[in-house]
Amino acid sequence: MRLLMAIFAVVLLASCSASQPITERGRYDALSATVWFQTSGEFRALCFQAYQLAGWRLDADLRDSARTKPRAVIVDVDETVLDNSPHQAKVMQNDTAYPAWWRQWVEKADARPIPGALEFLKHASSKNVSVFYVTNRSADERAATLKNLRQVGFPDADELHLMTREDESSKEVRRTRIAQTHDIILLIGDNLGDFAAAFDRQPLEARNGAVERLQREFGSRFIVLPNPLYGDWESAVFEYGGGLTPERRHQLRKSILRSFE
Ligand SMILES: [Mg+2]
Repeated sequence: MRLLMAIFAVVLLASCSASQPITERGRYDALSATVWFQTSGEFRALCFQAYQLAGWRLDADLRDSARTKPRAVIVDVDETVLDNSPHQAKVMQNDTAYPAWWRQWVEKADARPIPGALEFLKHASSKNVSVFYVTNRSADERAATLKNLRQVGFPDADELHLMTREDESSKEVRRTRIAQTHDIILLIGDNLGDFAAAFDRQPLEARNGAVERLQREFGSRFIVLPNPLYGDWESAVFEYGGGLTPERRHQLRKSILRSFE
């Protein structure tokens, strides 16, 4: 009996040590990024930099451009005006992955603003520039999203100005709709899909090629926020394949690195 138990213990130990590194590896891939996002002054500084530039661009447009329609700025929500990094931390602590805990996090409506976002959007609103929140959060997350935006104090946080995900994840249709009634003077986001259809679900080379082509737009009409936690930059590495194991994702990340001889 004692021998049997000893064998059982050895087998159990072996299976644990075999599975441990896989989950550890999967978690570790996002750990540095999350610590950087939550604690670094550099992250905050980049956000302030982006929103300060947005403010200058907005003021320049008000001063220099004649517009026929009312002005609007389009902002994305997640990791552009709201900081969801506590969700990322929760997922890692519990050794799970998105969409685990997402619903609970959204329902709390407790996300803090991204640095600089609140001041910039209040400034835009004070100049009669409409703010549209174009997000791929789902329709059933609308109420909690509006609650969170209002709680933080964001302007135009109402049914008309919040555009959640419709039939497709591309934001182009929603941008086109806004452009019918407004002159869109700025687009602000953390994911290239927040700016133009040219970036939607493109393979790595094509999306980077589009960045080269549209380079003059960045810092001009497109304002980009840093997000090393997730995004199409990462989905492109995984070739937009869903349901990959943490181990496979780790392998793909490593395999794409550029090194030297
Ligand atoms: Mg986002």
